[in-house]
Amino acid sequence: DPRLQAISEAIRVVPHFPKPGIMFQDITTLLLDHKTFKDTVDIFVDRYRNMDISVVAGVEARGFMFGPSIALAIGAKFVPLRKPRKLPGEVISEAYVLEYGNDCLEMHVGAVQPGERALIIDDLVATGGTLLAAIRLLERVGAEVVECACVIGLPEVKGNCRLNGKPVYILVEPS
Ligand code: IMP
Repeated sequence: DPRLQAISEAIRVVPHFPKPGIMFQDITTLLLDHKTFKDTVDIFVDRYRNMDISVVAGVEARGFMFGPSIALAIGAKFVPLRKPRKLPGEVISEAYVLEYGNDCLEMHVGAVQPGERALIIDDLVATGGTLLAAIRLLERVGAEVVECACVIGLPEVKGNCRLNGKPVYILVEPS
């Protein structure tokens, strides 16, 4: 797809953020360019529009920057998966392990019904720990996770991979 080169080039790499040694992939520069932003959303929309998906679940915070546009275009609802103590209603939680320490994702009880077909979206997959927690949240309420989608996959992910049996669709690797 000729659009992928421009999408890749629109992602800024910030060395040593948020700590020394990390090469941070910054998708905010992709959002500044209308064409690359739209192309990114369009590629996901073209892939998912006929998959009978009723819920797009976005991972805080950068999954919120792509998920709602995709949800509106494919006729699905959007459900935010948030960091602890951000959602005001009753929640279910999934803890996961990060490189240093633990984190947790939460989802509102009642947001997703059993049998719904879900797409999970985030900006980047590295170890897959975050997406696995998201998959578990959706599966705990009886939803079927059709696929996870990310703009960027770090090389250790080796292109499109599978997490707990679920496919992960990736647009670009870091340049
Ligand atoms: P994982 O759980 O190891 O797959 O890490 C993925 C999570 O960390 C996602 O929620 C990303 O938003 C975040 N993340 C890790 N590295 C980067 C980066 O370089 N840019 C943007 N997000 C990152």
